Amino acid sequence: MIALDEAQAFVLHSLSALAPVDVALDEVLGCVGAEELIAHEPVPGFSNSSMDGFALRSSDTLAGSVRLRVTDSVRAGDVSSLRLEGGEAMRIMTGAPLPDGADCVCMIEEATVEDGGRMVRINRTISHGEFVRRPGEDIAIGQVLVSPGDELSAARVGVLASQGFTSLSMFPRPRVGVLSTGNELSRTTGPLRSGEIRDVNRPLLLALLRHSGFEPIDLGTVGDEYAQISRRLHEAVRACDAVVSTGGVSVGEVDHVKAVISELGGESSRWMQVAIKPGKPFAFGVVGARRTPLFGLPGNPVSTRVSFELFVRPALRLMAGHLSIERLTLNAVLDCALPRPSDGKLHLVHVIARVHEDGLVHVESAMRQGSHLLSATVRANALAMVPDGAGLAVGEHVRTMIFDADQLSAPSP
Ligand code: AMP
Ligand code: MG
Repeated sequence: MIALDEAQAFVLHSLSALAPVDVALDEVLGCVGAEELIAHEPVPGFSNSSMDGFALRSSDTLAGSVRLRVTDSVRAGDVSSLRLEGGEAMRIMTGAPLPDGADCVCMIEEATVEDGGRMVRINRTISHGEFVRRPGEDIAIGQVLVSPGDELSAARVGVLASQGFTSLSMFPRPRVGVLSTGNELSRTTGPLRSGEIRDVNRPLLLALLRHSGFEPIDLGTVGDEYAQISRRLHEAVRACDAVVSTGGVSVGEVDHVKAVISELGGESSRWMQVAIKPGKPFAFGVVGARRTPLFGLPGNPVSTRVSFELFVRPALRLMAGHLSIERLTLNAVLDCALPRPSDGKLHLVHVIARVHEDGLVHVESAMRQGSHLLSATVRANALAMVPDGAGLAVGEHVRTMIFDADQLSAPSP
């Protein structure tokens, strides 16, 4: 058996970020910028009003109360053809350009309209620049908007839209093929025949990939025949940026996937017995000039899920250009004992993690653990890592990987 760290390092050292491509602005959310992007337009682009009110000259209001002649009304999108002179005001709406000759805005609540709108009384001294948004106040030309490695959040999408960017050089979302292997997998949605099971791993992985921001590609299922597996994986690595298969990597008679990965990946490939439970068998290799990774995960659905979190997700995040590829991992307080036999492995236990009133993250295992017991994991939002030994007692700290941080603040189930 090899240590989890060593297996993870083997995978990550084989990979690098995908070549950048231009991605449309409405597709960039969650992608990572490949190049520095610089502002080429000031925002705002022109002086404009931040209030509905009256544009005027601050010097006219030095004495406090003053009556001004209203010469025009400017709405957002309009430009007044008039110049504002001393003793004058113009009605102005939020976002409308400040007229030439004006230097401030009096908000409508502080003005009194007189003579049917022809005159306005301003009731206090308005200072120069009051309620005026200056050009470049938000974004100045030359400001760095995206640095390589920045993940594109919704706010950043908005900032880029304010510059008129329509597409950007980004690391693409890896397109990840998912193939299930096993003679026992039913090919239909009808009643199961004797000995058949439904394919759980493919929908599970397609969902996990989508949820992590990658582009899943459904490659279907294949039986336990070496030639068929070889052909399907061969095709898959040419069509995808990465391929994940499940089943056939253990030590059974028909576990051909590990041999196919070794055939396709050659020197770069490795079949590993990782010192973890679940998820011990794992095959990995990179194929072809594009060094497309091929992940052979074990078939039990809980193992598949755990192996995805430990090996596949960090690798795909690296390929997607992310600088931080790990899930949030922290020390949590154990609210239940996690006994275990000593077996040389790190045990990965599905747990419910919640922030308690003491401000600390507490975990409890409310479920039966077993690599084939997927339904017992649905309430879990984290994986506790119980080191080899006799286990951990209530109140001890346990290293915990959070895979659904939103649930940390949910009520305890
Ligand atoms: P294997 O890794 O191929 O030895 O499979 C280990 C266990 O996982 C067996 O009980 C398989 O029937 C089960 N299994 C394999 N593939 C799937 C799948 N796609 N969906 C559900 N269970 C599976
Ligand atoms: Mg199998």
